[in-house]
Amino acid sequence: MALKTHVVKGDTVVIRRGKEKGKRGIVKAIFPHAGKATVEGLNVVKRHTKQEAQQQNMGGSAQTGGILEKEAPLPLSALQYVCEKCKAPVRIRHGRAADGSPQRVCAKCGEPARESAKGS
Ligand SMILES: [Zn+2]
Repeated sequence: MALKTHVVKGDTVVIRRGKEKGKRGIVKAIFPHAGKATVEGLNVVKRHTKQEAQQQNMGGSAQTGGILEKEAPLPLSALQYVCEKCKAPVRIRHGRAADGSPQRVCAKCGEPARESAKGS
């Protein structure tokens, strides 16, 4: 079952609270059940990974010392959608597309948000 979230993968969002407040990024992954999402390049944490879990079959990248930089999930409620047209954080309105399917639109300018939740 697909839970509807106000932001989807690929959206530009602004962080509304926490140490990354005011920063913008692209949503990398959504975890609807946890109510969280990762945003590219934001809230990055360093993780020590176990060598045996990593092995050398990763293509021989620059993984030295088993430290991995990874985006930690942020609560969805801390993310606000940024309209590509307004270039500003806006509220999302739920409307309908021409074909009758649910469509998220910018409450400010009415620009439809791109739907990238399907497929990937
Ligand atoms: Zn807009």
